[in-house]
Amino acid sequence: MNEIFTLGLLITILIIGVVFRLNRAKRLGKRGERSVNFNLHFLSDEYHLFNDVYICFNDKSVQIDHIVVSKYGVFVIETKNIKGWIFGTDTSEYWTKNMYGKKYEFYNPVKQNYSHVKTLQTLLKLSRDKFIPIVVFLPEAILKCKTNEIVIISNKLLKTIRKYKDVIFTDNEVDRIVMELSSLPCFDKKMRTKHVADIKKDIEVKKQKIKSGICPKCNGVLIERKGPYGKFWGCSNYPKCKFVQKI
Ligand SMILES: [Zn+2]
Repeated sequence: MNEIFTLGLLITILIIGVVFRLNRAKRLGKRGERSVNFNLHFLSDEYHLFNDVYICFNDKSVQIDHIVVSKYGVFVIETKNIKGWIFGTDTSEYWTKNMYGKKYEFYNPVKQNYSHVKTLQTLLKLSRDKFIPIVVFLPEAILKCKTNEIVIISNKLLKTIRKYKDVIFTDNEVDRIVMELSSLPCFDKKMRTKHVADIKKDIEVKKQKIKSGICPKCNGVLIERKGPYGKFWGCSNYPKCKFVQKI
């Protein structure tokens, strides 16, 4: 009887230990994501932020830490909360971390993020050049990897994103991408509803302003103009504001 009791106790302790370790890994991962998330909130409202996106695609479910949609491109961000010296190349299947002589392998995050981009490419019907994949490590990591892709420490993230200044999407294209991402079937339901409502409200406000002769971009006065393709509304603050809308 006593032996069974002791055995039961040992098993219980073992289970608690395993659960605690698993939770710890999960907590550390979440902390990594949260820290990057905190950084991303400093971006202006021309950047649309999606956190912890789940995509169900071809019977597979993909989780993407962060997607930032802007007229400068779609930033796809993979977060790694791994301490120590990080070694790896673009082509290797696994990267290694080295801490106090202890080695640990993990799947190549550049490849992992590349597969996220591919999924988004198909889903959003966009070419590869519209995406900027970024792998972010927390400051506890020392990067020794050899890569042609963007692999950075989280404190460089905002600077890296803001470096992209070439406009490659129109406002309408940005709206479409944001709408499509917001209506993903696996997207967190509450967030999805809020996002869709926000976007719809934005579009409606824009429409109303144009109707009232107000520029939706800078609140200037809209002026009817004639161009080679017919009549259009232009902003009185041109060339500072380049808003145009066909009539
Ligand atoms: Zn304007």
